[in-house]
Amino acid sequence: MRIDILTLFTDMCDTVLSESIIGRARKKGILEFHCHQIRDYTLNKQKQVDDYPYGGGQGMIMYAQPIADCFRAVCEQTGHRPHLIYMSPQGKTLTQERAKELAKMDHICILCGHYEGVDERVLEAFVDEQISIGDYVLTGGELPALVLADCVSRMIPGVLSEDVCFEDESHYNSLLEYPQYTRPAVWEGREIPEVLLSGHHKNIEAWRREQSLLRTKKHRPDLLETAELTDKERAFLANIYEDENGEQE
Ligand code: SAM
Repeated sequence: MRIDILTLFTDMCDTVLSESIIGRARKKGILEFHCHQIRDYTLNKQKQVDDYPYGGGQGMIMYAQPIADCFRAVCEQTGHRPHLIYMSPQGKTLTQERAKELAKMDHICILCGHYEGVDERVLEAFVDEQISIGDYVLTGGELPALVLADCVSRMIPGVLSEDVCFEDESHYNSLLEYPQYTRPAVWEGREIPEVLLSGHHKNIEAWRREQSLLRTKKHRPDLLETAELTDKERAFLANIYEDENGEQE
């Protein structure tokens, strides 16, 4: 998969995308990232990328022209027009489901805004989709773009050691993941659940599923509306009650 990022802070993006699991996948050629400096596409001597908003008001707005030319250059370089996403607090909130769909695309391009945002006309002309990473406002689109790039990338085959690594995780199937433990089996007097030492894979699987259901009911009951559950699991959850401290009985 190829991801292009249009930004004023290429080093910030490149540094993060060169580290750890994503960095290794990049070196192996499983993932391709290209970070483009929007400032390189300005037509003025000062290389200014922003200006005051028409109508007055606070802050500066990024010009349409350098963004448009930067995106056109990506299209020219690759010989096709990638799906263009603008990271914005006004977009649809990122979900695992949307990331799964984006991971099926061969090529996406992400536009990072800065200052007060971007001239609306370039969004109208080129952007296919706006994505938010939550109901709060950050200073720039770089962190949101990196969140999206990371979330999509780890579902590309070969990036994680096995696909099951992400299929089992929170949100993949609208459930939160079960509790996980590693050595030692007793830490500061706290033991791990006995079933995990049993070596009985079916029992371990059943325990994990049950824990996933209980956790989701406790912390994110809204997710259960879209989770695929058996009738037995629905009945099990219907019989769980929580006291006033949120403890399940
Ligand atoms: N004036 C804009 C508004 O009220 O919608 C916010 C601009 S914000 C200060 C600057 C840039 O940060 C945006 O153009 C966007 O790219 C990015 N950004 C900020 N918060 C974000 C969020 N929650 N999700 C995605 N991108 C965000």
